[in-house]
Amino acid sequence: MVGEYHAMRLETGVMLVNALTGEHVHGRAKPPLDGRDLVRVATEVLGGNGQVDLSTAERLRDLASRLRGIIESLSRREHDEAAGLLNRMLVDSKARPSLQRHGEQTWHLHFHGPEADLVQRWTAGLAVSVALAFGEDLPHHVGLCAAPRCDQVYIDASQAQIKRFCGLACQNRVKAAAYRARRSGS
Ligand SMILES: [Zn+2]
Repeated sequence: MVGEYHAMRLETGVMLVNALTGEHVHGRAKPPLDGRDLVRVATEVLGGNGQVDLSTAERLRDLASRLRGIIESLSRREHDEAAGLLNRMLVDSKARPSLQRHGEQTWHLHFHGPEADLVQRWTAGLAVSVALAFGEDLPHHVGLCAAPRCDQVYIDASQAQIKRFCGLACQNRVKAAAYRARRSGS
């Protein structure tokens, strides 16, 4: 079930990027996270998938920033740059596919060795998932919200890849601004 794990990983990756990085959300400034807040938010995003202390949370934020850089270059259609960043992330993550099984689960493919720590596991998994979505054209593409003063990233699972905004809040905000602009122009 590569597809299912791929989609789940990308969803968590997008949640990490939106929770831990970015300066604006839905037109409003977003205060930077530090210390205990950073640990709390990182823990919430991973939802009990491992213990998060401050240094782990900081490494997760670095990973999220890296992922943001890749999504931003993809959304600018700078594919050579995105491929370069992804290749570097794949190398640094020491991604190494291996079949693993936990308890009663069926065997499934991981992209890290069994000795990898939490951040290494996520780095390897996310590097592979984003690379698959980009290089193999799997569904679930990632993009950057096109609305002004919003740095949120999103997953576009639509066939036609038509999504432009992180959600209805930004879509409506842009529509309303366009409407006001038309009204004042007439
Ligand atoms: Zn937005």
